[in-house]
Amino acid sequence: MSATIIDGKIFSARVRENAGRQVAALKARHGLTPGLAVVLVGEDPASQVYVRNKGKATTEAGMKSEEIRLSAEASEEEVLAVVRRLNADPSIHGILVQLPLPPQVNEMAVLDAIDPAKDVDGFHVINTGRQAVGLPAMVPCTPLGCIIMLKEVLGDLSGLNAVVVGRSNIVGKPMASLLLSENCTVTIAHSRTRDLPAVCRGADILVAAVGRPEMIRGDWIKPGATVIDVGINRIPKEDGKTRLVGDVCFAEAVEVAGAITPVPGGVGLMTVACLLANTVTAACRQMGIEVPEV
Ligand code: NDP
Repeated sequence: MSATIIDGKIFSARVRENAGRQVAALKARHGLTPGLAVVLVGEDPASQVYVRNKGKATTEAGMKSEEIRLSAEASEEEVLAVVRRLNADPSIHGILVQLPLPPQVNEMAVLDAIDPAKDVDGFHVINTGRQAVGLPAMVPCTPLGCIIMLKEVLGDLSGLNAVVVGRSNIVGKPMASLLLSENCTVTIAHSRTRDLPAVCRGADILVAAVGRPEMIRGDWIKPGATVIDVGINRIPKEDGKTRLVGDVCFAEAVEVAGAITPVPGGVGLMTVACLLANTVTAACRQMGIEVPEV
């Protein structure tokens, strides 16, 4: 039996169109154009592609987009100065600093300097804490996109066993926290987990956020489970080129799972879409207005 493919193109298009309608409504009703600034430090090729895609999506949704590029040699103080300027700019409602940062720049110091109200990546400890205790918060885009897809596919997630493989601050931990908020019974697995295949086999929802190509095999998956593959790994092909694969061995998993996200074409597209949604939310909260229902 072959799993249902959870098509990120369809889900992300819906989120992006909704954000575009909300922006149009904000302009018409309040004269408000949400603005998103993306800061890129250095020339990492993957980061350049991500930043370009984010800028394009922002403009397409009718928002203001600002891109700030600093050299790979930029000092921490230079990056902090840009963040402070954006914090003070009333036309900018969302600030995203593309990670990773070069080694001379302390990532935590930079994330901590972003105004939590403009923290559309949801990485500031204030937002992490608020989300954890159930207060309104900016929620990290990738886990938010995963939850939206899971709820569309499964409806109510209450009582389901969810296993998140990976415990990073940007994916694994917030993902687990959101699943808990949805009343799942959550297990977080990581590199020290004993008998990971057995842990995964207990999952009704399996989220892979590891960064190891095709690590999760078909026989680790409970028949009928919903599999969300966050991993983006570039591996060499025989012709010398490269291709993208996830953390899940798709060819095996698709025969066992009930539903699965592909890589590419799954979670990655939702991440950009949720960034737009978060920018709309941030702009509305800063202006003290309701997020428009459209
Ligand atoms: P990190 O490297 O920060 O975290 C990886 C996690 O996987 C760690 O918690 C680590 O455990 C765990 N891990 C590593 N090896 C194993 C193993 N053999 N068994 C079990 N657990 C293991 O990665 P990120 O969370 O930043 O990213 C994860 C993946 O998601 C990457 O492929 C990344 O490219 C992708 N990604 C995709 C996004 C999207 O939009 N689709 C957005 C962000 C990331 P430990 O903590 O013990 O070291």
